[in-house]
Order: sequence, then C-alpha cells, then structure tokens
Amino acid sequence: MNTEANPLSKYFRKPTIYVQIPTGGRFNPEIDKTILDEIPIMPMTAIDEISMSNPDELLNGEALVNLIASCVPSIPEPRNLCNVDADFLYLAIKHATYGKNIEHTHTCSNCEEQADYNIDINSILDKFPEIHDVEPVEYKDLKIYVHPPKMESMTRMALIEVEQTRILDAISDTGDESITEIELAKQFALSFRKVSKQNVNLLIEAIDRIETLDEVVTDKDTILEFMNNCETKVITRINDQITKVNNRPKDLTTFEFTCDACDNKEKVKFELNPVNFSSAG
Ligand SMILES: [Zn+2]
Repeated sequence: MNTEANPLSKYFRKPTIYVQIPTGGRFNPEIDKTILDEIPIMPMTAIDEISMSNPDELLNGEALVNLIASCVPSIPEPRNLCNVDADFLYLAIKHATYGKNIEHTHTCSNCEEQADYNIDINSILDKFPEIHDVEPVEYKDLKIYVHPPKMESMTRMALIEVEQTRILDAISDTGDESITEIELAKQFALSFRKVSKQNVNLLIEAIDRIETLDEVVTDKDTILEFMNNCETKVITRINDQITKVNNRPKDLTTFEFTCDACDNKEKVKFELNPVNFSSAG
C-alpha cells in the first residue's frame, strides 16, 4: 500500500524509542549498517497485541517473529536474529508500546501482603551484555567460527523439549501396569536421543564457517559430516564457546522486593520468554 497517498498516513504509529541490539548486528550482515546505532522501535498494533496473547503462536516462536517484523521493520529477516537480540527487542517493543514501566503485583511469601511494584524496562535493557566478535575454536589447523544461536534454532529446540516432556509425562501418567520399566527406559532413551540430536543441530546452525589452511567450509552438510566424525572434545569445545556467547547475566531479570508490612526481602526472577513475561506485565 502506498502510504504517501493516504491522507491519514501522518497519523500512523511512529517509532517511540531507538535502541542498539546486544550483538550490534555483527552476525546479521543483512541489516542496514546505517541504522545499527539507532534502530527505530514502533509500538504494537492491535493485531500484534492479540497475536501476543495467543499461546499456540507464542509457543512456536511465530508470534515473536511477526511482532519484530511489525514493530522493527528495519530488520529484514527477524528469524535470522540472534536469540539474545530477539529477547532484547521484545522488551524494547514492550517499552515502545506501554512505556518504560512494567507493573508487577508481588505477594510476600512471609506474610502474604500484596503490593504493586514498577519494574523499569530500561534497567533490564541496560543489563544485557554487549556481544563482540567470537574467538574461533582452534583444533589442529582448523579454525571453527561460531555465532550466538539464532532465534529459529532456539525455538525449534524449545518445541522439541516441550514435545518430549509431554510424551514422557503421558507415559508415566497412564498408571498402566502393563508398561514395564524396560519400556519406560526405552522411551526415555529415545527421547534423550532426539533431544541430543537436536542439540548437535543447534551447534551446527551456530557454526558460521570452518577454515582449513586453504579452504573455507560453510556448507551445513559438510559440517554435519565433520561433527559426526570428529572427537567428542571438539564438540565439547564448540558447545562451550556457544554457551559462553549465549550467556546472559544471571540477575538479568531478577528483582528484589521489600515487603512494606514485614520488611521481608525477596528476589523474584522473571522469565524473559514472552509467554511467561507477559503475564508479569
Ligand atoms: Zn511481608
């Protein structure tokens, strides 16, 4: 639609805040370099808000992809964002939509007194680490370059874990005497294998490239074959490196509340995941 022609276009929503993402866009060459210092964030539309309250869409990560596409149109491929940047943008969009404060009702675990608190989103955004270039993992004369996990692979991993937990719960809950311990163990092993396999996929997707002395390998199948045939310690080291770059400070979303009635101090951790976090807002 040509918004220039619409006499109402000047009343359309406009960016309300500008942010820098934690990785500075260094793993997303598709983002226009000129906006990286001040990425414009627009408030949610009514449709965005409705989608964010649909649990199915939230679970498969589609809601967050669509939300970023709507409110941060200068990011061309939201799916390709690093997970840490997507989490950061989710909070920034909340800020752009509702203002800087998230209201939270806290119930004291000591005396059960309830009180409302304001959580300043800026204080959370400020705590995100800046993610710099990642040192390659070196093995013999190979250099293995990784980037933080992308949104898409993290979402898929979360889905598989949810699915596997459901399957295992269903098996354990039947109370059916005919399900033997052996069958149960077999199911657990299968499930474990599926999650582990996905973990290896997650690692492969977080590998940007492998440099040999005279070649640069980027093909995922070639890398998969290498991962299936290399020593375990190589996988462990790649895993450690990715975990290290994906780390957030432990206290990122932890807040301390002091009860007015009994002076009890309590730390509460919020999930950054939109499903849980929105219920705190
Ligand atoms: Zn209290």
